[in-house]
Amino acid sequence: MQDKLNLMIPGPTPVPENVLSSMSKHPIGHRSSDFQEIVQKTTEQLKWLHQTTADVLTITGSGTAAMEAGIINTLSKGDRVICGNNGKFGERWVKVAKAYGLDVKTVEADWGQPLDPNQFKRILEEDTSETIKAVILTHSETSTGVINDLKTINNEVKSNSKAITIADCVTSLGASNIPMDEWGIDVIASGSQKGYMIPPGLSFVAMSKRAWEFNNQSNLPKFYLDLKQYLKTVNKNSNPFTPAINLYFALEASLKMMQKEGLSNIFTRHSRHQKAIQEGVKAMGLNLFTKEGFGSPAITAVQPKNIDAENIRKAIKNDFDILLAGGQDHLKGKIFRIGHLGFVNDRDIVSVISALESTLDKMGKLEVPIGEGIAKTISVLNNE
Ligand SMILES: *Cc1c(COP(=O)(O)O)cnc(C)c1O
Repeated sequence: MQDKLNLMIPGPTPVPENVLSSMSKHPIGHRSSDFQEIVQKTTEQLKWLHQTTADVLTITGSGTAAMEAGIINTLSKGDRVICGNNGKFGERWVKVAKAYGLDVKTVEADWGQPLDPNQFKRILEEDTSETIKAVILTHSETSTGVINDLKTINNEVKSNSKAITIADCVTSLGASNIPMDEWGIDVIASGSQKGYMIPPGLSFVAMSKRAWEFNNQSNLPKFYLDLKQYLKTVNKNSNPFTPAINLYFALEASLKMMQKEGLSNIFTRHSRHQKAIQEGVKAMGLNLFTKEGFGSPAITAVQPKNIDAENIRKAIKNDFDILLAGGQDHLKGKIFRIGHLGFVNDRDIVSVISALESTLDKMGKLEVPIGEGIAKTISVLNNE
């Protein structure tokens, strides 16, 4: 049905009505005092979201721009780095690092498995002359639904080296607790179309004091993504270039909504929904793809037995107007992924699990009496 599609993919995520309407007006001048007020306000809101006193810089560009900015503003040609790689976005880190001539060592895990903090520890301990400059990883690995243990890995980095930690928190920020200052994360990259509940087009980089010290030595080429320019201008409540002004309207509106809900309520909502989906899926006789205990609060990957996952996904889109994500690369047809990030409520969870159960039944592939999956989901929602 027209205009009825519910996005349950891990980005872009649904946008609240008041955020949408905040954008539907003429842009204002980006050097005007009205716009400066918005920059000032959103910068404060972003610090709140990142739980940091560091400046959070806003770039007009997708999440990958923030990832790239994190690397080129802290590191230098030939620097040795460790990249965590257990999925599509871990691979992206490796590609960005190599594109800039960094000397990359990877810590890998099979897709669906989390990165092992001990492997980072071992490599850092062996590096007695402390030549490794950065540990770079994805917090919530969207391609597999795995959440990596960023806190523990960063603790290993801090206790065994002088390296900085650069984290892709694109699908974890605004879904799970990431106290940047308390944990001591040096660079956090994120993007607007995920937990922020606004359309794609803005990305964000937060840099610790130590990351700014690295910036003084960094010799990688940069111009549009030169964060020194962003820092200089953000202090004057401005931007080095013409930003996506209407997306700033949206950002202000969405962060206001998030502040009203409160960080701990946001995190509880996401973990409650995650559990309701996981339990419903298991009760239907389907497997979770991700290792138990390492599921992302933003996305759940499901591995059906003996059914092409793409057929389930297509049927749910056709019959229920719910868009799920498929598997990437070798996981195409093997898994589908349910996004539950951002502007998501209990209704979305109940409808996606019911739609899945109904679809399996229609396909003749439901291995349990109809209703067991949704019953479990409802029981989690009513009791958590
Ligand atoms: C969406 C996403 C990104 C950013 O991708 P863009 O398409 O550049 O916005 C980066 N990392 C993860 C884990 C993501 O889910």
